[in-house]
Amino acid sequence: MAQERISRLLSLAYERTGREREPDAISKRYVRLAREISSHYKVRMGKMEKNSFCKECNSMLIPGKTCAVTLASSRGQVIYKCRCGANRKIFYK
Ligand SMILES: [Zn+2]
Repeated sequence: MAQERISRLLSLAYERTGREREPDAISKRYVRLAREISSHYKVRMGKMEKNSFCKECNSMLIPGKTCAVTLASSRGQVIYKCRCGANRKIFYK
């Protein structure tokens, strides 16, 4: 149940991100809510879900829109650099 709400909130946040007339605040609010549900009900987010937003500013990480993607292939990492300046490293191996 909680898990379902989290994934729904995150997909809503994804849809709202980068729309011209909608401020980022809306999608950030969805992400914050999803994180609150996750910690309140002690429901762990899946890997994909956890990696889909910035832990620092709660915005969705969408390559080309809200973050820049760098490949550090020698280390087996993808680095997402959020607009707030936070880096998110994801191992793809
Ligand atoms: Zn950020």
